[in-house]
Amino acid sequence: MDKFYNQLKENNKKWVESKLDQDPEFFKKLENGQQPPVLWIGCADSRVPANEIIGAEPGEVFVHRNIANMVVHTDMNMLSVLDYAVNALKVKHIIVCGHYGCGGVQAALKHQSIGLIDNWIRHIKDVYRLHKKQLDAMENEQEKWDTLVELNVKEQVFGLAKTSIVQNAWHNKQDLHLHGWAYGIGDGIIKDLEVNVRHDSELDSVYQLNF
Ligand code: ZN
Repeated sequence: MDKFYNQLKENNKKWVESKLDQDPEFFKKLENGQQPPVLWIGCADSRVPANEIIGAEPGEVFVHRNIANMVVHTDMNMLSVLDYAVNALKVKHIIVCGHYGCGGVQAALKHQSIGLIDNWIRHIKDVYRLHKKQLDAMENEQEKWDTLVELNVKEQVFGLAKTSIVQNAWHNKQDLHLHGWAYGIGDGIIKDLEVNVRHDSELDSVYQLNF
């Protein structure tokens, strides 16, 4: 067995010890259930570990990750996580966190077929098409990539607002806020993109649902 793999199990033992050192009841308390105030929708990228970059402890963040932090409206996995987070856990905040240097976003700017993943990346290409004018006016490739990362996060936040789950929560006056962030892998800093969508009235009318 390779060294790195074995180290993971050793690390776990040390982690348990350190947690118990701080609080002998640490795991006992978690056994009673969870009430995280935040749902995190982030990229699967190994360099963007949800809890770690925001200093969150176990029990504080409900996490969903996929390639390029997408909110694909027919994705049963995402919808199930969202439904459970909003309707059972009653999270107050949903954060879509993208990151600069996202390989998924970069692939969307290119034409090379990578395999099955092309069909997932296509959703990011749709975002590109929506903002083609703005993006194609950029000569600097880095700037274009960074901008598509941000635009993609914003579109995913709007994607959340378009779901029946979020709209129903707003309709029921549930305290639920959507946020879009972009994380810098090179400096560890989070940029709040200040996507302010608080009501379905801010969406194109075709998406607004009556309950
Ligand atoms: Zn990524």
